[in-house]
Amino acid sequence: MRNGGVSFWWQQVGLPSPADPLEGDVTCDVAIVGGGLTGLWTAYYLAEADPSLDIRVLEARFAGFGASGRNGGWLSAELPGSARAYARAGGEDGVARLSAAVRATVDEVVGVTRREGIEADVVRHGVLHVARSAAQAERLGGELDAAQVARRIRVAGAVSGHLDPDCARVHPARLVSGVARAVRGRGVRVHEDTRVTAVEPGAAVTARGTVRAPVVLRCLEGFTAGLSGHRRDWLPMNSALVVTEPLTPAQWDTIGWAGEELLGDEAHAYCYAQRTADGRIALGGRGIPYRFASRTDVDGRTQDWTVESLRATLTSLFPSLAGIGLDHAWCGVLGVPRDWSASVSWDPALGLGHAGGYVGSGLTATNLAGRTLRDLVLGRDTDLTRLPWTGHRVRRWEPEPLRWAGVHALYRLYRAADRREDAGLSRTSRVARLANRVAGR
Ligand SMILES: Cc1cc2nc3c(=O)[nH]c(=O)nc-3n(C[C@H](O)[C@H](O)[C@H](O)COP(=O)(O)OP(=O)(O)OC[C@H]3O[C@@H](n4cnc5c(N)ncnc54)[C@H](O)[C@@H]3O)c2cc1C
Repeated sequence: MRNGGVSFWWQQVGLPSPADPLEGDVTCDVAIVGGGLTGLWTAYYLAEADPSLDIRVLEARFAGFGASGRNGGWLSAELPGSARAYARAGGEDGVARLSAAVRATVDEVVGVTRREGIEADVVRHGVLHVARSAAQAERLGGELDAAQVARRIRVAGAVSGHLDPDCARVHPARLVSGVARAVRGRGVRVHEDTRVTAVEPGAAVTARGTVRAPVVLRCLEGFTAGLSGHRRDWLPMNSALVVTEPLTPAQWDTIGWAGEELLGDEAHAYCYAQRTADGRIALGGRGIPYRFASRTDVDGRTQDWTVESLRATLTSLFPSLAGIGLDHAWCGVLGVPRDWSASVSWDPALGLGHAGGYVGSGLTATNLAGRTLRDLVLGRDTDLTRLPWTGHRVRRWEPEPLRWAGVHALYRLYRAADRREDAGLSRTSRVARLANRVAGR
């Protein structure tokens, strides 16, 4: 089994060689720091709105090296982050508007892939959320009973389910590399192998030169802590995946997964899975949640413990697959703000903006954030700029070692809560409620 190599998705399409590194100081109209989907979508929509803009994306490695090229491929229609936090900023109406905007964004992303000819294995069969205990069922409130769930996918121990038909499955590396190609096609320069060391009003500083621009946008999500002055803004939360060898037709028959729905459970330490276009199961979960001092992985390599834990989850969902080979494991980081809710911010006086903190549901949200940043930068007052995540401010994470100890304690509590619920609790464990309060969710 291969471990790391950025991700299985990138290994499938081939790791790109970094292109067009910055060569010396330049001046442009917009500097975007980070070549993941937040940065790329922002560049895409800004270039579309005003083709005369000189836009530069500055990327430390290559476009899609981060979470955007490593994720589980859930193009989700569901709200990223904490509804309660958005309600504090924009009331219930604000939450409803943000929810509707995210849902509509799935159409937008699917539409762009068609318009731009991006082959990203997009299939819109929805996501099947499965409850595997009474407490999970109480949280989920799903409309499908155990027999109806089993008619879609035979998940061991499933007691109920909910199908959200609007979500789509994608191949992450194909999507992000396609968006990068489209962005370049619109005349945006994507400077790869160009690490930004400081962001300040009017400039993004790199070892290769300084990019001066009246607009500088920080789009680093899980890597934000690596930038000086931002160490405690968003916690780089770890998530990991494994992918099986291709299943035989008989194995697919046994588990009954005939469609291409995404699949997730309702555990506190939840898992997420997709049936890949080439007939494998890619399954992800939290693993070791956080590395001390906000460190990130080396090219996606994950711990053996995490691989074994994901293997156990896979065989718990599908006991008939016990012993199936795993071809690849990898991990990455996503950005978690202290109140577990995302933000899109723009300060016209300083010419500085940022977006991110999608708490594990960024694939769709990056597109919405990119269009919102476009409107903010262009000074437009639109439905997007009035969403409750715009200008949302959040306090910073605690310093170390409190941060490390707190996050690890939190996930110990979530795992303990899952064990209690699996043992027969009929409602959400009090331990999980306590963990949510501590987490500030
Ligand atoms: C394992 C995993 C599974 C996930 N699964 C899902 C899922 O199924 N569905 C979903 O909705 N979301 C999922 N997410 C979350 C989602 O992938 C992210 O929220 C989203 O991709 C964030 O995009 P981004 O562009 O903001 O950040 P990233 O994609 O992380 O991009 C940031 C970029 O900045 C670059 N960079 C870092 N430091 C610097 C620097 N100093 N200078 C210049 N560039 C720099 C990085 O190389 C990277 O390319 C998952 C995340 C992970 C890690």
